[in-house]
Amino acid sequence: MNRTEHLLACLAEECAEVQHAVAKALRFGLDDGYPGAASTNAQDIARELNDVLAIVTMLEDEGILDCPADREAIEQKMARVGEYMGYAIQCGALTPNVK
Ligand SMILES: [Mg+2]
Repeated sequence: MNRTEHLLACLAEECAEVQHAVAKALRFGLDDGYPGAASTNAQDIARELNDVLAIVTMLEDEGILDCPADREAIEQKMARVGEYMGYAIQCGALTPNVK
């Protein structure tokens, strides 16, 4: 394994840790946390997202990835998610106006 592969493995691992923290929040709530742990599931998600950003920064610093924040792409994704929320409401899979 070379350095690029190692960093890509780190990125995959950190993305999986985001998934894990999000799944815990979905199962037990954002304000809950592991018994005995000082952090909430919401804080765990934030920490893991920062871990992802750290690895992305390393990949960028080494010239492996080039992924500057693309506001237009972000806004397009936000619009698509909003559209699919409407569809999910129509399907009865999402309760409207409930956080
Ligand atoms: Mg992590």
